[in-house]
Amino acid sequence: MIDELLAGNKRFVAGEFKRNELYYESLAQQQTPKVLWIGCSDSRVSEEVITGSRPGTIFVHRNVANIVAFNDVNISAILEYGVVHLKIEDIIVCGHTRCGGIQAIEDGVHENYIADWLCIASGAKDRADKIASENNLSREQKLEVLSAENVKLQIKHLQNLALLKNMRKKGPTPRIHGWVYRIETGVIDVLVDGCTGKSFPDIPGLS
Ligand SMILES: [Zn+2]
Repeated sequence: MIDELLAGNKRFVAGEFKRNELYYESLAQQQTPKVLWIGCSDSRVSEEVITGSRPGTIFVHRNVANIVAFNDVNISAILEYGVVHLKIEDIIVCGHTRCGGIQAIEDGVHENYIADWLCIASGAKDRADKIASENNLSREQKLEVLSAENVKLQIKHLQNLALLKNMRKKGPTPRIHGWVYRIETGVIDVLVDGCTGKSFPDIPGLS
């Protein structure tokens, strides 16, 4: 596998990099991404591939189940660097279907660190439980709702981080978008439109 990765890099250098030498030269001077991506670590959800973006476009933080934790110095430092230094204009919190983290929240997990981490999303499960029982949802539908509710909850966490709260007192803050990437189709569903502030149902047709 490692050999395949290094062979892939050789193809990248000879192809994409060589064809766009000027672009990559400019990237060598500095990065100017305008988007911060907060996504899941899942290997199937590669932000650059699924949005058709090139290196230099997206500043990235990924973790299990795309969680924004209050006590996570890692995400706080990324956020501070992104909004203060890179002047990020848009933050995308992107969940996805068929997420192992979301399934673990639904089914319960007993491994120490994973359980502690997923606890931060427990409010999303409460919401999903209520929606599922009110709408008589199948397990698959409920997991989709849980993915969506988790994105909405993590947006709330993000909005409540002191850095953004203090910025808001002084002026504009980055727009925050909520997306769910559908692994089965490759399509991104917009849950929260950061430009208009409009929210959409967790599953189309579900109110
Ligand atoms: Zn995931």
